[in-house]
Amino acid sequence: MKEIPFFNYPALFASRKEEYMSTLEDTLSRGAFIMQDELFRFEEALGNYLGVKHAIGVADGTMAILMSLMASGIEEGDEILVPAHTFIASASAIHHSGAKPVLVDCGADHLISANSVEMNLTEKTKAIMPVQLNGRVANMDGIEEIAKKNNLMIIEDSCQALGAKFKGRYGGTFGEAGTFSFFPAKTLGCFGDGGAVITNKEDIASKVRMIRDHGRDPNDGKVKLFGFNGRLDNIQAAILLLKLKYYDEDIKTRRRLAEIYNSRLGSLSTLLLPPPPSDGDHYDVYQNYEIEADSREELRDFLFENGIGTILQWGGFTINNFDKLGLDNNLPYTEKMVKKFMMLPMHHLLSDEDVNFVCDKIIEFYN
Ligand SMILES: *Cc1c(COP(=O)(O)O)cnc(C)c1O
Repeated sequence: MKEIPFFNYPALFASRKEEYMSTLEDTLSRGAFIMQDELFRFEEALGNYLGVKHAIGVADGTMAILMSLMASGIEEGDEILVPAHTFIASASAIHHSGAKPVLVDCGADHLISANSVEMNLTEKTKAIMPVQLNGRVANMDGIEEIAKKNNLMIIEDSCQALGAKFKGRYGGTFGEAGTFSFFPAKTLGCFGDGGAVITNKEDIASKVRMIRDHGRDPNDGKVKLFGFNGRLDNIQAAILLLKLKYYDEDIKTRRRLAEIYNSRLGSLSTLLLPPPPSDGDHYDVYQNYEIEADSREELRDFLFENGIGTILQWGGFTINNFDKLGLDNNLPYTEKMVKKFMMLPMHHLLSDEDVNFVCDKIIEFYN
């Protein structure tokens, strides 16, 4: 039987094995482990790719969010608006910065709702954290307008949206800082944990550079604030530098696969699909292909019996569902969506035939 796992971790290494091995051998044999040439070259390449002044490699995406908040001057008691449809990391970074995460709703595109942001503003609101989920940048017009009118900062969780654009602007470049994760299953994944902060602001960049390295100023080695050990290690940076060369090619594949899903499944009234690749103001990188499906559990079982892996993002819970954290709020769309959302296989190592096979089986199920 044909097997299409949701994600194929071993294939990540196998696909460009010789290049990875020679990169590793070269880096390891020079003993270049921490804060070495590869890190700085990767930071420069990432900054150039996104057209930003500063890209700073850090330990992971969660640290990238936390450090961005700390460097932006978030303080104890501030409130930050963040969608409930996100990884818990967005909210825990806010919590650990001293601020309070206030959850907002999403719309049919599964991204932050400007309406809901407006409804949850208080005297204490200090920032909006759009989560650019599934490889798509939210419609930022409304968000920027609210931020401007109320003097709020924008700090993006763009961990799932490297290279995605709205009106020609890259995800991560709309506010004080943007954040990326290089977890292996991300569109640009390394062979472990990794992340980055991007910013055009000198003061934020220099603070993040200190925070990631125990508060030490890289210019004079003196400790100037309380920081962390939150560096991106050099071996991961070497892998990322290599993978970045192929990034546009890999995204092109994802967009082609999304187009197949869209053309084969678009007419099924039992499904809500993500917006297609040819969607006007947006350029999506399809980190995930997240749909809403009628009879979701039965569909997942049927696909599983046919060798096709699917996943519910966040294990099937949006973060308002974690009772012990006490984050719940008025979130009508999110509560409806969480009962129907699921992700179909989507990564650059799938073939057109694989995706067509998944479509065949979905169509068969609803027939
Ligand atoms: C992956 C991800 C993060 C950060 O994840 P790390 O595992 O810490 O790199 C944060 N937010 C979202 C939405 C993510 O998908």
